[in-house]
Amino acid sequence: AEERELLLSRIRDVADYPLPGVMFKDITPLLADHQAFTVLTDSLARICTERGATKVVGLEARGFILGAPVAVRAGVGFVPVRKAGKLPGATLAQSYELEYGTGEIEVHAEDLDAGDRVLIVDDVLATGGTAEASLQLVRRAGAQVAGFAVLLELGFLGGRERLTPSLEDVPLEAL
Ligand code: IMP
Repeated sequence: AEERELLLSRIRDVADYPLPGVMFKDITPLLADHQAFTVLTDSLARICTERGATKVVGLEARGFILGAPVAVRAGVGFVPVRKAGKLPGATLAQSYELEYGTGEIEVHAEDLDAGDRVLIVDDVLATGGTAEASLQLVRRAGAQVAGFAVLLELGFLGGRERLTPSLEDVPLEAL
């Protein structure tokens, strides 16, 4: 509970960003605080180990910042899921609906295989669109999703409800 308060105290609310009416959760104060970033990394690494994960998948871009130290701490590899067009090798791609238009994410096909159990990490779960696409992508790569972990869940946006069918009993943890 103390750790939760520390993490919450280092997340800044920015009004009307990136659009009017949006309250943006800015995690950069947490990253700049060594103690808070360590608590976050250790908590996520514990989840990684508990789930028996063999890889951490981080979602661009803040999922990279959180996921990479978690993978090192937990002693497993890190695999980036990127916006389309950024990875040089052979990729699998997954499209998903955005508020305006569609998004597309990719992963290097050879970075995941059938034996892998994956913990997917991101900073914020909002509507769940990105999360849902990443679940599909990891499974299409042949790996099993062992867990989905975020720092913060914006419950009022209904991401958890939207994800429930795709999760198929995979635990969704928000610190
Ligand atoms: P979703 O697909 O609507 O769930 O949006 C989740 C993605 O958008 C995540 O990759 C987040 O990094 C980003 N995101 C949405 N809202 C926020 C926010 O308030 N702060 C930081 N990132 C956010």
